[in-house]
Amino acid sequence: MKIKYRRLFALTINFLFLLLCLDGCGRPGSGQTQQPVPHKLTFFAMDTAMTVTAYDPGDEPGKDPSSAKDPHTDDTLALARDYTAKLENKLSVNIESSDIYAVNRSNGEEVAIDDETASLIERALELCEKTGGALDITVYPLTRAWGFTTGVYRVPGEDEIAGLLKLTGYNRVRLSQDDPGKPYSISVDKDMMLDLGAVAKGYAAEAIADILAGNGINSALISLGGNIKAIGHKPDGSDWNVAVLGPDSSSYAGILKVSDLSVVTSGGYERYFEENGRHYCHIIDPFTGYPADNGILSVTVTARDSLLCDALSTALFVMGRDKAVEFWQNDPEFDFVIITEGNEILVSEGIYDAFSPDPAYRVTCVKK
Ligand code: ADP
Ligand code: MG
Repeated sequence: MKIKYRRLFALTINFLFLLLCLDGCGRPGSGQTQQPVPHKLTFFAMDTAMTVTAYDPGDEPGKDPSSAKDPHTDDTLALARDYTAKLENKLSVNIESSDIYAVNRSNGEEVAIDDETASLIERALELCEKTGGALDITVYPLTRAWGFTTGVYRVPGEDEIAGLLKLTGYNRVRLSQDDPGKPYSISVDKDMMLDLGAVAKGYAAEAIADILAGNGINSALISLGGNIKAIGHKPDGSDWNVAVLGPDSSSYAGILKVSDLSVVTSGGYERYFEENGRHYCHIIDPFTGYPADNGILSVTVTARDSLLCDALSTALFVMGRDKAVEFWQNDPEFDFVIITEGNEILVSEGIYDAFSPDPAYRVTCVKK
């Protein structure tokens, strides 16, 4: 078996590199107006190298780049890092003290869970419903069978997949709260399992954004692997440049100019293996039990809310090109960049003008 496994780490490093190249700040001596120097904190959580870049409140062009930076901003970034670690401890499928770990070994019994975990599961279940089940937070038994949780990949037999499909279905998750103020409890049928991997980073980006806003920061870039959230503008009032990676993940397919927007990508190149000439990626089609394989190489979704973007980027990847476009046409509360086989890019009209593609691609603007 030919195995190609690129950890998100490698992807993220590429991504960060591109972002750094694109959004290098204030180069003294370049003759341009000098930009304030940002604070940056990089940490590792949720299997991803994360970087939060933030400017001090009140930063503006012309401020002497050597002037003292506000230590409070560093404290805020540390708070964001610590909060992300706490979230991972609640949501991880692997951490033994997490809510999700307990649910996944509950043998069909009810389990009490933390309020924040419950509210994320509630939102995620709404998004599973909204996407007609293309997003399904119960595909974990399948993800495991294909080896995406361990890196020991295999192609399960048809009978095995049929059996595991019987253990999935987001509408079989029962979340309840007896009285306001009481803890939430959750139950799933025996051997069913939850995995919030498709939405956790989107939720984390929103939580970090709240922490930054609560501490007066209004110019920042939150980069959690393929999940980017741009807060405000750069201090000089210009947009942030966010790279949309190409399918080989080492070049970029285009640049999006954004402000106050989330940009979230799900790519078939992030985690995959090949066997007998077929490419199997880590996003599972909940209807077939097989990895999504419909000609889409990556989906980038933009909207204000990172959680929505994270859920939809995974779901549109499953839907395939035509259904994804139809879904957007019926509910255009977001925009997308879809890269398909054959070097084609579809861009929805809301962000078409903000997107500068690499000339190697054929680009189509999709309209309502
Ligand atoms: P990533 O988090 O790898 O950047 P995604 O947000 O697209 O990418 O989430 C993919 C992860 O979600 C997979 O690694 C797996 O844990 C889980 N997953 C796979 N397929 C689905 C699906 N159809 N619905 C919900 N979660 C999924
Ligand atoms: Mg996702």
